[in-house]
Amino acid sequence: MKKIRYLTILGATGSIGESTLDVVSRHPDLFEVVALTANNNIEKMLDQCRRFNPRFAVMLAPEQAERLQQAIIRNGLDTTVLSGVESLEKVASLPDVDVVMAAIVGAAGIRPTFAAAKAGKLVLLANKETLVMAGRIFMDMVKEHSAILLPIDSEHNAIHQSLPHDFDGSLQEKGIRRILLTASGGPFRNASLDSLAHVTPAQACAHPNWDMGRKISVDSATMMNKGLEVIEAHWLFNAASENIQVVIHPQSVIHSMVEYIDGSVLAQLGNPDMRTPIAHAMGYPERIESGVASLNMFEVAHLDFEKPDFKRFPCLRLAYEALDMGDNMPAVLNAANEIAVESFLEEKMPFTAIPVMIEHVMNTLGQETIHSLSDVLKADSAARDAAHDWLNTFR
Ligand code: NAD
Ligand code: MG
Repeated sequence: MKKIRYLTILGATGSIGESTLDVVSRHPDLFEVVALTANNNIEKMLDQCRRFNPRFAVMLAPEQAERLQQAIIRNGLDTTVLSGVESLEKVASLPDVDVVMAAIVGAAGIRPTFAAAKAGKLVLLANKETLVMAGRIFMDMVKEHSAILLPIDSEHNAIHQSLPHDFDGSLQEKGIRRILLTASGGPFRNASLDSLAHVTPAQACAHPNWDMGRKISVDSATMMNKGLEVIEAHWLFNAASENIQVVIHPQSVIHSMVEYIDGSVLAQLGNPDMRTPIAHAMGYPERIESGVASLNMFEVAHLDFEKPDFKRFPCLRLAYEALDMGDNMPAVLNAANEIAVESFLEEKMPFTAIPVMIEHVMNTLGQETIHSLSDVLKADSAARDAAHDWLNTFR
């Protein structure tokens, strides 16, 4: 890479944010951090400011921003601390920033991710919820403002790597039959169906292969994560839902595959470590070191595959249904899922209530056309209200 890339990391204190900073720290000659953002972890943000000396740090709440600013001054640093969603949008669209890592979790990521696209940045998209909620509007925004979108989600990054370099949104033109989206099946792949009603948040968050934030860990246990990824793949690669096949692959070594009409299946393999897709996108189109160990094929030894079971994983069925219905439905699914996961993590309802709540909210709200981001945010908020109403009657 010839010149330094200037970087904003949205969600810097999270799992993806920290892996991104790990890659950055290996390449001080290639990347410079301009802005870091976090929800409320002041200690971690202070530590990151010490290590990367960004021009801006954003905390969501003003009180926390004030506390961080005091600590920054005490530590003799010159980072300016900002707060609020507008500041997230601001640091995502600063004129001298080239690359924005969109790694806020959930619907909270949508506005700053949109701001980055609108400013024509190289957008590294971890926040899949943006595409799930507002796929068409977001993809139009990317096109209109000549932003470049590279997927960080390991599966979509693997698909991107397995597609022809000149892929321009038509699978058919490039002789592609379908996308094979791999999934680990999470911690409950083999658990008895009866036992699922009693699983604890700690069990649901103990993913067999990946170390991730709590929300996406629960999504992996329900396979809603894969459902959201089907919708994400639909928008990123312009793939019809019937051309996206989910394949359970418990070793998480193949990160996804692309099948061509001549019968070739191209895959990307590697250790399950998000620094690989992060480094791939950060250095793109060049390859840079990520710190990830070589894949030891002799240790892996076996690659297994299974068909997903909608009875065990009703969230996956709901996601396909939301995608096929379109309009507001994916945003409704996503918002209801966020409330469901949060309620499960707070032990207000059992694990098995997650799909029940989501299906109820989808049925209650029904389908409505979406014209703008504000329609999407309205659907999101209506779904949250309906989910809370359902929770109140449930308890
Ligand atoms: P995480 O919970 O570890 O981190 C989330 C980050 O977002 C934190 O920095 C947090 O401070 C910030 N944040 C949370 N709520 C916020 C709010 N309301 N406003 C502003 N900032 C807020 O999550 P993660 O696992 O790093 O996941 C981040 C995103 O990447 C998610 O969309 C997830 O689906 C996606 N993703 C993660 C992984 C993974 O391995 N962790 C893999 C693929 C995709
Ligand atoms: Mg993924």
